[in-house]
Order: sequence, then C-alpha cells, then structure tokens
Amino acid sequence: MNRKNRQKRSNGKARVFSVQKRILVAFIFILVVFTGLTFRVGWIQIVAADQYASMAAEYQIKDERIKPSRGSILDRNMNEMAVSTVSYRLWVRLVPATEAEAALQDKEDLVRQKLTAASLVAAETELTFDSIMYKLDTDSSLVRIASDLTKPQIEAIRSGINKENLTILEIEECSTRRYPLGTLAAKIIGSVSYDGIGQNGIEMSYDKYLSGVTGRQIARTDPLGDAITGGEKAYYESRDGLNVVSTIDESIQYFVEDALLRGLERTQANRMMAVVYDPRTGDILAMADTDPYDPNVPGMPVLEEDRAEFATLTNEEQGEYLSRMWRNPCISDVYDPGSPFKAITVSSALEDGAVTPESWFNCAGSLNVYDEVIRCWIHPGAHGGQSVRDAVANSCNPVMMQVVQVLGYNRFYNYLELFGITEKTGVDLPGEENPLVLSAEDAGPVGLATMAFGQGLSVTPIQMVSAIGAIANDGKLMVPRVVKGLADREGNMVEEFVPKIRRQVISENTAAEVKEILNYVSKFQTAEAAKISGYNIGIKTGTTQKLVNGEYSEYAAIGSMVIIAPIEDPQFVALVLCDTPRVGYYGIGTAGPVVNEISTELLRYLNIKPDYSPEEIDRLNNQKLEIGNYTGWTLAEAKDSLETLGLKSNIGVLLGGGPVSGEEGEGEEGAGAGSGDAGTAGEDGEDADHAAHDNPESSFVVNYLDGNLKVVDQYPKPGMRVSPGGSVFLYWQ
Ligand SMILES: [Zn+2]
Repeated sequence: MNRKNRQKRSNGKARVFSVQKRILVAFIFILVVFTGLTFRVGWIQIVAADQYASMAAEYQIKDERIKPSRGSILDRNMNEMAVSTVSYRLWVRLVPATEAEAALQDKEDLVRQKLTAASLVAAETELTFDSIMYKLDTDSSLVRIASDLTKPQIEAIRSGINKENLTILEIEECSTRRYPLGTLAAKIIGSVSYDGIGQNGIEMSYDKYLSGVTGRQIARTDPLGDAITGGEKAYYESRDGLNVVSTIDESIQYFVEDALLRGLERTQANRMMAVVYDPRTGDILAMADTDPYDPNVPGMPVLEEDRAEFATLTNEEQGEYLSRMWRNPCISDVYDPGSPFKAITVSSALEDGAVTPESWFNCAGSLNVYDEVIRCWIHPGAHGGQSVRDAVANSCNPVMMQVVQVLGYNRFYNYLELFGITEKTGVDLPGEENPLVLSAEDAGPVGLATMAFGQGLSVTPIQMVSAIGAIANDGKLMVPRVVKGLADREGNMVEEFVPKIRRQVISENTAAEVKEILNYVSKFQTAEAAKISGYNIGIKTGTTQKLVNGEYSEYAAIGSMVIIAPIEDPQFVALVLCDTPRVGYYGIGTAGPVVNEISTELLRYLNIKPDYSPEEIDRLNNQKLEIGNYTGWTLAEAKDSLETLGLKSNIGVLLGGGPVSGEEGEGEEGAGAGSGDAGTAGEDGEDADHAAHDNPESSFVVNYLDGNLKVVDQYPKPGMRVSPGGSVFLYWQ
C-alpha cells in the first residue's frame, strides 16, 4: 500500500481517526502521570522512608470520630418502639501501639499515669483504686478496666484525661439498639446491622433521619498522641439523629397480631396477614403477619426449635433464611385478590356511566368470551337475572365480565391504572414488590374478563388496601405510609409529613354508590363475621385458588375479607388474608372472623359510638338472660340457681362500701345492648374469686357454701341481662 492510498483512506475516516488520536494522546498522558506517581510513591516508601517517619512522628494528626446517638422510633402515640442506649468501656493501653512510640515511652511517666488513671476512674465509678491497680499489674498490652459507664461518667473521665495528660486511657463507645416491643410490629420497625445501619423496615427507609451526623475532633499531636498545647485543633460537634414518629398504633398492632394468631390456630393455615389502614391519610395503623421476627436478635430465628436447624445451614442458606424472615409479605408478596376486586370493577363501570347499581344482567352459570367458557363459582347452577348490586352480593363472575364488556376492556384497564393496580403504591418501606399485571394488549379480552373478578392478576396486600381505601376516601387514592413525622428528643414534632394524595380515581358520588353496595353485601350475608352489631359496615370476601407450580391448586386457597367501617364515615379499611387454610376454605369463614374481631375491637378503641337498630336490640336482648334478685338467698342456693341457668357464680366478701354500688352506671347505654358489659365482668371473675381467697379477712371461711351465709348484694343488679355462660358476682358480709 503506497502512501497516497493510505492518506486517501484515512481522509475518508478523518473524524474517526481524530477521535482515536485524541484518546491515544490522553492515554499516553495518563500513563506518564501514573508512572510518575507510582515512582513517587515507591520513592517515598523505599528511599525516603526514614525521613518521612521522623516527620510523621513530629506531626501527627489525631482524628477522633464522635458518634451521634441514633434517634428512636415511636408509635403514633409516642410510645417507644426502637431506642438506642449508649454505654462506654474504658481500656488501658500498657504497651504503646507502635515501636516508635515504645522507644519514646517514659517508664516513670507510665507509673504516674497508672496511678492517676486508677484514682480518676475510682473517683467516677464504683470501682476501688486497689482493684484497678490490681488489673493493671499484668503483662497484657491492653486491659479493660470498666464497662457500662454512662455519658456523665465518661465526660468526667474525659476531662480528667485531658487535664492529667493520660495517654494510656482509651474510651470505647458501645451503642445498642433495643426494641422494647420484641416481635410486635417488627417487620415495620426493622432492625440495624452490627455497625448500626438500618437494614430493613423504618430503620432502613428513614436511616438518614435516625442516624444523625458524626462529629470529629481533629488535633495536631506530638508523637505520643497528645494534643500540642496551642496546636491546631478543630472540633465538629456530632448531631444526634431525630426521632421518627410512625403511623402505627401499638395497641391496634397488638390486637391485630393477637387476632391473627388465634385465626391461624383456628384455620391451621400456612400463615395469615393483615393491614389496617386509615383511608383519609394513607396511615397504616397496623400491619402484620404470623411469621415472627425479633429485631433484638435480627440474625437468629425467634423460635428455639428453628435455631437448631438454622445452625446446620451454610452461610448462604442462613442469609436466605434471614431475608425470608425479615420479609414483610404485606408489601412484598403478591396474590390473586379475587372477589374483593369486584368493588374496583364496579367502581370503574359506575364512574364511567356504563352501568348503575340497578342495571340488570343475566348469569347463565358461565359466559363465553372469545370462545373461552368462563364459569361462575355457582356452576353448574346459575344466578339468573340480577342487578349489579345483587351481582356483587352474589359474587357473580359472569355479570362482572358483562359489566366490563359494557365499560370496554381498554376503559377498564385505564381504571386499573388509576386505582394504582398496575404499579407500586410508593409506601415508605423498603422491599415493595411490583404487581403482576399484564398490559392490556398482552392480557387480551379473556385476560381482562377474568380480571373483572380479581383473577389472572396478582397484587400486594398493601395495593389492595390502598385501592379499596380510595373508595372509602370519597374517591381519593392516597400514598400509604408508616411514618407521619419527625420529633426531637423532648418529644416535640419538628416536622409533620403531609399525607399525599395520588389522585382522584372516582367521584365522591361513585364512591358513595360503591360504599352503599358494600354495605348491602354486609346485610345480605348471613354469616356472623359479616356483621358488627351497632355499626354499618361495608365488606367483601373472596377465595382464590393458589398458584402452585404454575397451576391453580385444587385445595390450596387464599381466603380474604376486606372491610370499610363505619360505612357512613369510614375511619378504617382492614384486609385480612388467610393463606392455605386446612380448616375451612372460603374467605368468609377463614379471614372473616379475624376481620370481625379486629374491627369490633377497633371501633371500640377509636371510641366510635354504636347505634343499634331495634332489631339488633331485640336480638341482643333475646340472647341474654335477665338476672333475678338473690339478696337474702344462701350462697349455696344462689349458686345452684345460677348454674341451672347456665351461668357462673363468683363469690366475694363485701368489705366496707364494696365495689357494688359504684358500678350501677354500667347499664347506661341502656336497651339491654349496653348491659353487655355485665357479661364481660364475668371474665374477670376468676381474679375476683382469687381475691376473696387471698384476702386474709375472708380466709377463715373457705367452706362458705356449707353454712348459712346469705347474699347481701350482687352484680349485675337484679333485672340486668347477662350473656349465656356469663358470670354473676354474689357478695356476702
Ligand atoms: Zn353467577
């Protein structure tokens, strides 16, 4: 190839060549600089080592890190859920860390330092001078002389160190994170790693607020590490972390976890989950599942029997085990939502004006969608003609599919997007999982038709709760959250996070229509779990077959129930899931009782007054027994009489004024229903009984039933009503 040709070719690629050339030039430049640096480092290390070592000995920089204290995590009522306690250890370094320092160590000064250190520590702690000196009489280079010292103690010792120029004393700060609630709310709170960094839960997502800012003390020192008098110094104060205030309510969390465990025992399920949510703010009031985790020992299974098995696992397996244990299924696991999803389908069609609650459709037991036969759960039966409202109550699949056909598949999909079904909710916790929802094109009409009744798509429990929350909250979809603000050490709020509205999904009017339908479902259902006496609620239950190895299982199901309560002014939405029950199958029987239990407790806790309908009052009164007047009866006679009525008796001695007269107000809610409290009095009966026995004044008569001891008072009072199996207190004097 001659020169001319070569030039021609390179001209043709002139630009490319010039870029390559520039890269080459840059590379050579970097190479030269780097070689130079390497040489310089080598020169310093090898040739000039001695010279630099003596310079370093003259000028050392002491750079101490001052750890901030990690903020606490508090519940919404400022109860402590995670706290840091800092303690200090004191060490004595008897042999200097480097040879250069050892050469310079003054033996006489070491004796002075030992004596001064021992008297300083003895003055500030409970240790004696002699015991400290005894510990220092050793060949070890490093001795621990005190542990568990407090901040005031260590501050006094630190000032002594500076005043007396003690180089042998070293302070070690130990910070421990404590979770006073143990396993309660553990997956929301999270835990910290060995070096104090949040590794899951709120500890992780709010780490930047909790951790604070590390301070530094920098001083130029002499070869022994002592600050040079008049030398350069810089001190940057540490800033302690802020307290994070959660939306979780410790009490609600407690009774939710309690109810879940009872539900688990009843259903023998793999696990259960629950989310309790305030739809007006997006506040998560409680969120739990039945697999325990204790953040006080984040690297260990909670149960003793699991620990033995854990110990046999490889490191990798242990890592997997722990991340499974820390996992919060309410935000990280997806499931097919099933029938509660019909509330979303109906909301969409009502909002779009495609149907009204009275629109009439027919269920023939199945429906053909593009040559695919999709059955109703009642198949081979059929629901026949029914309104949209009744179709929700009947949980009819073919009608839901027809509703979506009228709405239009693509319009339906738009609403799924609006309800947040196709994306994460943005909850402020790490590990939220994406839903599994095909695009409208990929799902096609058959896929979209099955989505109408909550199948063929998978969502997280938190997504479902937030979508139902939009219906409860006049159509406004909120961002769910577990943290509402930040507080200082004194408990004053320094920042309140404003609840975030994602969007208005449906109108207030549509939301009201759907709430009315869900209330109708509650009235329509005959199961006890679907009703709460004194309150109007909205519910929807569901049962979906579980996907096991890619196929819908015949026996494994997820039962669920969602509630909005009270329906006229929703204060909360609760969702409970029962994963693979072995006793019971349908959501109403597995998740239903747990939702009912939680909600009943919550309505009482939130102080929402019941309003009993006349039918409810009748029903409650008929269930209860009216108590007669036992005054003047012998204890034995009264006890027999109560037993024949199926009631328990508790016998107590009446001392002085006694508790009886003071409790008359209990029946104030009247109408018999309120006197239900009398029934609960019986639950404390055992304690009252023990009290009577333990009381030295009553112990002389244990055999009270033999004698002629008479009843002088009773509770409940004559004429009040008691639930079957309840207790009546009989008092004698
Ligand atoms: Zn049907």
